[in-house]
Amino acid sequence: MTTALHIYHSITRQKELFIPETPGFIGMYVCGPTVYNDVHLGNCRTFVSFDIIYRYLQTIGYQVRYVRNITDVGHLLDDGEDRMSKGARLEKKEPMEVAQKYTVGFHNMMRIFQTLPPSIEPRATGHIPEQIEMVETILKNGLAYIKNGSVYFDTQKYIDNKGDYGVLSGRKIDELLSETRDNLKNQSEKNHPADFAIWMKASDEHIMRWNSPWGIGFPGWHLECSAMSLKYLGEVFDIHGGGNDLKFPHHENEIAQNMGSCQCKGAKYWLHTNMLLLNGKKMSKSDGNTISPEQLFIGNSEHISKSYSPMVVKFFMLQCHYRSTLDLTDAALLAAEKGYKRLMEAYKWIQSVNHPGTKGDAGQDADIEALIEAAHLDMADDFNTPKALSRLFELVNKLNSLKDKHIGWDQISPATFENIKQVFSLFINDIFAVDSDVEGDLSGNQDKSLLDGLMNLIIQMRNDARLRKDWATADLIRDALKENKVELKDGKDGSSWQVTES
Ligand code: AMP
Ligand code: ZN
Repeated sequence: MTTALHIYHSITRQKELFIPETPGFIGMYVCGPTVYNDVHLGNCRTFVSFDIIYRYLQTIGYQVRYVRNITDVGHLLDDGEDRMSKGARLEKKEPMEVAQKYTVGFHNMMRIFQTLPPSIEPRATGHIPEQIEMVETILKNGLAYIKNGSVYFDTQKYIDNKGDYGVLSGRKIDELLSETRDNLKNQSEKNHPADFAIWMKASDEHIMRWNSPWGIGFPGWHLECSAMSLKYLGEVFDIHGGGNDLKFPHHENEIAQNMGSCQCKGAKYWLHTNMLLLNGKKMSKSDGNTISPEQLFIGNSEHISKSYSPMVVKFFMLQCHYRSTLDLTDAALLAAEKGYKRLMEAYKWIQSVNHPGTKGDAGQDADIEALIEAAHLDMADDFNTPKALSRLFELVNKLNSLKDKHIGWDQISPATFENIKQVFSLFINDIFAVDSDVEGDLSGNQDKSLLDGLMNLIIQMRNDARLRKDWATADLIRDALKENKVELKDGKDGSSWQVTES
């Protein structure tokens, strides 16, 4: 921990010197996914960004407790329906079945992107008593009120008691009003439109329900993160993260709940990642401007000309700072693929050669050492991955000159050569973790041809069944594929397949 770490704090809106609450230790909480459908690429960008931060903090010597929750109750849609219940209704499943299915899918995707599991991954439904207790404390502190079996946080009382509502989103309460999405149906129950539900009465048809001192209901979405961060990280912890779409109302309300219950501010530093765009526009399923990670990996989308391997996609994410919007285009992915290949080829080469032992050139050595130092400083400067990558590419240029004999071994000392090896290994394996495609086909075409082969086999089996007039088997195959989001189209030239979005 020799370098001072600076991180951009969303509340002060500037880079701050990072001072952990307990020297040597870091508590970090990141809002995890709402597991009611497949994880999308935007989610992946946010979780990859925090994985890099988690990894980096460990490489500079911190012991990090990284808590990332699973939201499996309470996150409502604009019409007031619980996202999990909606998922369950659409799929004719128990909400817990839906949660399980998409949690497994999420973990799988996180593995594909080579991210580490968090230290603790608490589920909202596993922490109902903690959430009820927090509601009771807020009520006891006079900062909430009960209406018809629901409990609302009293933002006006909070403000009267010098609570800084709007501290994170930096907006006036009136501007925030129209955006509250916790339960539009119940707006009339609130004393003030800015108040938000911390416990909601469950209607008869609501599937997710628990007993509480206020009747049968379920917790408000914002409450889980306050309750679980308090339980696992304490009243004050170091870092809280999420995508910047969560600043309001989710994180603003989390702060109010923390202050309203234990009079503690929770996180010392708030970090927010920026959004992933597709061809310059917000990703949106409704207007077709969307692409799933799977579609990217197998090259099955109108938005791309070919498949891209997971590590190329991850490298593409790293080329952009986490606080900037990232625009996914085919051209940018093609460029990222070239860059990734170049980096990995240099990495492979340096691992395979040994320095002959000749003395180096002091000027050249100093240049290289300065680049290595700069890459470390870039990461300490609010986790600037694109800048650190650019230093690695300057080192790649040096290595290629050496490899192509434009400069001789006498230009770089053995110690400096060893330092290049180490810095490559540190970034590529430990911090960025983009090493896994090295052995395979870097373009991901190997996976695609395997998939094509398997799909041809399945289509052949179905055709055989149809020829035998075994309609049950033919339908079973089509339906099973559909379950896995693969749609078969039967035409006069045979059957073709495509991956669907939902
Ligand atoms: P959700 O499952 O919707 O609660 O989102 C999980 C995480 O992904 C949150 O931190 C969101 O802020 C983040 N997120 C959602 N959409 C995007 C996007 N397009 N780009 C980056 N992060 C996103
Ligand atoms: Zn949260």
